[in-house]
Amino acid sequence: MDAKQKSDIKEKIISDIASIEKDIISLEEKSQPITPDCSLGRLTRQEMMQEQQLYLHNLQENKKRLNRLRFALSKVDNEDYGECKECEENIDFNRLFLIPESVYCVSCLEELNGE
Ligand SMILES: [Zn+2]
Repeated sequence: MDAKQKSDIKEKIISDIASIEKDIISLEEKSQPITPDCSLGRLTRQEMMQEQQLYLHNLQENKKRLNRLRFALSKVDNEDYGECKECEENIDFNRLFLIPESVYCVSCLEELNGE
């Protein structure tokens, strides 16, 4: 990876973190517990609760990704950033750009998932 690619990835991580932080704030608002005295019909209320579950789930996923991205940001300047943890080959740049928190190359990931 050259210096230009590295700085591109760094910018990508920073912008991903910013957009996830925004998502988390809005999901936290949306997943607030529904007040019992809310004067809606039964079905609507059930739908709202299902929606709330979905928001909570997305919130958890976003928080996990945020942690991984922050970790990636702390590692991006290291020599070994972008190396696969399994085979130590360089991870494909396009993949890293898409998912900067990647720690495995595609073929190792497939092998790990295929177990
Ligand atoms: Zn690998």
